[in-house]
Amino acid sequence: MDWPTLSHLTQAEILALQNRAIKRFFRHELPFSPFFRELFAKHNLNFADIKNIDDLQKVPFTSKADLAPTPEDPGKSRKFILQPDEHLIKKFAPKTKLLKILMQKVAGLDVKKFLEWEYKPVHLHFTTGRTALPTAVGYSSRDLETIKETARRLFQTMQIPSDAVVVNAFPYAPHLAFWLTYFATSSLRLTTLQSGGGKIMGTPKIIDAIEKLKAKVVTSIPGYFYHILREAVAQKRNWSNLEFAVFGGERVSDGFRAKVKELLKEVGAFNTKILTTYAMTEGKTAWVQCSEETGYHTYPDMEFFEVVDENGNRVPENSPGELVYTSLNWRGTVMVRYRTGDMIQGLSLQACQTCGRTVPQISRDIQRKSDIKEFNLTKVKGELVNLNAFYPLLMGLPDVEEWQLEIAKVNNDPYEVDELILYVAPKVGVNFENLSHEINRRVLSETGITARIVEKNLKEVLSLIGMESELKEKRIVDKRPKA
Ligand SMILES: [Zn+2]
Repeated sequence: MDWPTLSHLTQAEILALQNRAIKRFFRHELPFSPFFRELFAKHNLNFADIKNIDDLQKVPFTSKADLAPTPEDPGKSRKFILQPDEHLIKKFAPKTKLLKILMQKVAGLDVKKFLEWEYKPVHLHFTTGRTALPTAVGYSSRDLETIKETARRLFQTMQIPSDAVVVNAFPYAPHLAFWLTYFATSSLRLTTLQSGGGKIMGTPKIIDAIEKLKAKVVTSIPGYFYHILREAVAQKRNWSNLEFAVFGGERVSDGFRAKVKELLKEVGAFNTKILTTYAMTEGKTAWVQCSEETGYHTYPDMEFFEVVDENGNRVPENSPGELVYTSLNWRGTVMVRYRTGDMIQGLSLQACQTCGRTVPQISRDIQRKSDIKEFNLTKVKGELVNLNAFYPLLMGLPDVEEWQLEIAKVNNDPYEVDELILYVAPKVGVNFENLSHEINRRVLSETGITARIVEKNLKEVLSLIGMESELKEKRIVDKRPKA
């Protein structure tokens, strides 16, 4: 079904489509995953019994812990890959597929080759976890067609015009953001510079390219975009063609949006839309806003999203909770009832106020649960601190140019209490004492703690966060020595 049709179905039609997809996927595909065969056997569950979104609630949750490699079991994530063999195919494949296989055999063709297109992982992405070992997520050739389809939908949802020139400023790496932009632009035939980001092509050339190619669209990590925009302003560049800044990888607050828009005016870009995506490596694609005000538009034929409370019970539409993801139409690595650790305000099933699309929409503001860490700020007890709060708070402060949060031990002594050090590069001409009071007031009210604020110049902070040298900005670093 094409995206314009799919994205305007009625709620009942979407539900029927998802129920059909769940039935098919659980009956005919999921048994090919060693992990889920074990899980279903352990819980006495039958694949054929999961026929709709209600039945899905019988299936236990999965999480990063099931998937992420450990030193003892580095190949853990491989069990999530669909790996059919002759026996499993006979047992689980639908009749239509068995017939196709038979026809291959009759024609004297190689059945193994035939199945390879659908199942063999040929493209890998990795997670960019701060702590855990990176997890591999595999795409088969069929999945590469699927990711292209979802990538096109992403650009169509934003209404990127077909004459747009795109600069892909995401870092070149086996990560979703760079490749999704590549798949979208190449399959929509948009003229695109796949720059590879500051580490590959270099910031001066990217700034130049946005001007000279008259780029209408830039895709980037928000912090890096802010960095190149600030440089462009200093060099009095003309980015007046820029209509879309598309962000991925980090959260974007309203304060940060406002700050970016102010700077954009100085390079002649007065009507740039700032649109953000939501993605997770395990979900294999990303979802986007259609306008700055809306949530993320999902693909109901590719995945099923549900929201659960802290007891794991599914909550009704528009109720807050943790977002849980289930693959419906992927091969390679697949996830079922995967707890994303992302807390959302709710999932809406109503037609979008802006574009009228009827696909399930994930609310705009997302909090990452894994960013809540325990600290021993006093010798008395550990305290839970939401590090997630620092990002929007500091990104949105107009007088802060750049920042980095360091978690350390007092005197670098492993037996001492923890301390938070916030390195801040203020805007030129700003009174630092006033600024640090203001920061501490806000940090205290948002997180309940205080940080030691240290003034640094812009160059120093840029080098601390590795803006030009790292794949991912080091915004929050944990330098606590191990006891
Ligand atoms: Zn919309």
